[in-house]
Amino acid sequence: MVHYLQQANYVSALKVNQTLIMNLGVCLDPRPRESEYLPSPNLPEPFVEPVEQEPKNSEEESMETSAMSSKDCVKVAVRVRPFNKRERDAGSRCIISMTSNNISIQDPRNQPNSRTFTFDYAYWSHSGFTRNKDGLFVPEETGGRYADQANVFQGLGQGILDNALQGYNATLLAYGQTGSGKSYSMVGYGPNKGLIPTLCERLFQFFRSTQDSRQCQVFFSMLEIYNEQVIDLLSKANRSSGGLRVREDQQRGFYVEGLRRVPCDNAVQVEQLMEQGTRTRTTVATHMNANSSCSHMLIIVQLKQIFSKECITKQSNINLLDLAGSERQRSSGSEADRLKEGTAINLSLTTLGNVISALADMALGKKVVHIPYRDSILTKLLQSALGGNSRTVMIATLSPAEICYEESVALYTPICREGKENPESSCGE
Ligand code: ADP
Ligand code: MG
Repeated sequence: MVHYLQQANYVSALKVNQTLIMNLGVCLDPRPRESEYLPSPNLPEPFVEPVEQEPKNSEEESMETSAMSSKDCVKVAVRVRPFNKRERDAGSRCIISMTSNNISIQDPRNQPNSRTFTFDYAYWSHSGFTRNKDGLFVPEETGGRYADQANVFQGLGQGILDNALQGYNATLLAYGQTGSGKSYSMVGYGPNKGLIPTLCERLFQFFRSTQDSRQCQVFFSMLEIYNEQVIDLLSKANRSSGGLRVREDQQRGFYVEGLRRVPCDNAVQVEQLMEQGTRTRTTVATHMNANSSCSHMLIIVQLKQIFSKECITKQSNINLLDLAGSERQRSSGSEADRLKEGTAINLSLTTLGNVISALADMALGKKVVHIPYRDSILTKLLQSALGGNSRTVMIATLSPAEICYEESVALYTPICREGKENPESSCGE
């Protein structure tokens, strides 16, 4: 239980943090990045000469406008998936309802009772959909409430891309129970492409449409953090025990030594790399007698835009993270393995929560002596993304079935504690 609550604090802290990070002024900090992977956080950097505005084509304009008008740096979204076959066969009942950005979760053992939670965005992907001739899940009727992959990208992915194009780091992460739809949202299945491939497609489209004004380079890396070890999913080398080393450099901050970065110039290439990485992830998991839901998967898309005329280089990283399942992890290994694995997964997730809480406190003006970035590999690698000039979006994925009640409430309860809960349990404003 403590484990769940600690993880849930992460959600709550993110929520608190969204206004606070903005108050810190770290949201729109136009500093070009020059480091190789994960740039060092908050380092003073040279003044960048203002660039004279060029006439923009409409696509360029829409991307940049949406980034500039973004209000918050950390946003939390929730997405409710359809029943899976097992849940349908078991005649499961949907215990979640959604109105605007609020979700209400009904207690299956105490029917009138429900809890309400408010998010920055809420996506209803549970019902009201059909599969079209291309295999895409789309709303049954035009204007229906079903949120398809395109909807979710428009709400969450586009802003991340816009920010990265302006030279800010951006992070998109999925959090939830195993089977709740994290990979579906981030990566997608078959024709239902998730946030990552769509983001890459749009990125290359944008670069093609603006190639007269800038030279662009994209590098792609994919890694896994399992038991506090970093495994390069795009390389066969360095899969020795212990994984790759995470090192710290004064300029660059934390980075993964020897991590493969593949130059890419189209979205198909990125998709092939993702497939390769996903296959490796499965192989590694099988080899380690584990399940890939026990590990965190991180994709880093590094952008470099060179504006020769203006002598400006903009560099940013997009971190795309599919976190380990939020439930208590079980392993088929020995008791010792299980304990080690549980501790390590817990360590990364709870440290992430602690880091974000500390940042939130700091932004509230509280005295924070220490931000525990160094306590886990995940937070080391995300240091610049969370504490630096980054925009972060978390998508919390949810199963609507009654059997998931405990997990869902445990995950969101701390948000209620922050005043989002209606004391009469009558489900929020
Ligand atoms: P996780 O990565 O959280 O373990 P998955 O993303 O693999 O879970 O989702 C579990 C199953 O649910 C998959 O078969 C996936 O296709 C399906 N699914 C998840 N979210 C959705 C959604 N929004 N619409 C349709 N199917 C979904
Ligand atoms: Mg998954």
